[in-house]
Amino acid sequence: MTAALIDGKAHAATLVERVAAAVPAFAAARGRVPGLAVVVVGDNPASAVYVRNKLARTATAGMRSIEHRLPATVSEAGLLALVATLNADDAVDGILVQLPLPPHIDDAKVLVAIAPDKDVDGFHPVNAGRLATGLPGLVPCTPTGCLMLLKDTVGDLSGAEAIVIGRSNIVGKPMAALLTAASATVTLAHSRTRDLAGHVARADIVVAAVGVPELVRGAWLKPGAVVIDVGMNRIAHTDGTTKLVGDVAFAEARAVAAAITPVPGGVGPMTIACLLRNTLVAAHLRAGLPPVVGL
Ligand code: NAD
Repeated sequence: MTAALIDGKAHAATLVERVAAAVPAFAAARGRVPGLAVVVVGDNPASAVYVRNKLARTATAGMRSIEHRLPATVSEAGLLALVATLNADDAVDGILVQLPLPPHIDDAKVLVAIAPDKDVDGFHPVNAGRLATGLPGLVPCTPTGCLMLLKDTVGDLSGAEAIVIGRSNIVGKPMAALLTAASATVTLAHSRTRDLAGHVARADIVVAAVGVPELVRGAWLKPGAVVIDVGMNRIAHTDGTTKLVGDVAFAEARAVAAAITPVPGGVGPMTIACLLRNTLVAAHLRAGLPPVVGL
């Protein structure tokens, strides 16, 4: 068997088109387009690339993005004051504070200061609680994108055996909650899991979000499984060049699975597209407008 490739770029482009198509109706109702505020502290080069991509995609979708750059020396109180200003600004529907923050600033304190209804990253404990209890809210972008890819690939997930490897608040835990809500039977594995290969062997759906290059081997997989590889690990070759690999041994897995996301070009593009989707969702929720169908 050669697994089909799940084309995250194509799925993401379609999602951005759907978001863009819904913006004019919002603008007609509210007299403005949805707005996303992106706060960047310091000059981490990796963050700069992510932020540039996010801002460019926001413009593609016809939304307004506002970038706030603060020096790495800004105090925690200074950053919290900016978040308070953005919370109070009615033209701002989504607030994203790019992580990591400098060590003198407490990430958790800042994330909790963002108004939950503008928390387009879905990291606020109120949104985590809403997800866990089945209430409408904002869900982290990466697992939202993974669920969309799975639904488009598998269809109904009801009763499927799913394993999520990794229990971070950003990916693993919300992914397990989304799959549970979709009526899959979910195993949430982590660094202390015994016999990871044995758990993976039972799964129809494998979501790997670990950060360990090629941890999941092809021989572990159930033939015909659908594999979503969230991992983004940069590894160095002996000649000094580098390569991005996932948490799944791609060539091995491709010979066993029914479908798999490549790295890059799988989950990554969906994460940014889901940020735009979440901004639109937040704008609709805040305005009391009905949710956009198909998002
Ligand atoms: P994290 O470091 O916060 O969490 C990693 C999780 O993996 C932990 O829960 C840990 O228990 C588990 N783990 C570690 N070693 C393990 C092992 N040997 N066996 C089983 N579980 C193990 O990481 P994260 O933020 O969830 O990110 C995970 C990966 O996904 C990273 O490679 C990251 O770069 C990538 N990522 C990609 C995107 C995207 O848009 N494509 C978004 C977020 C994260």
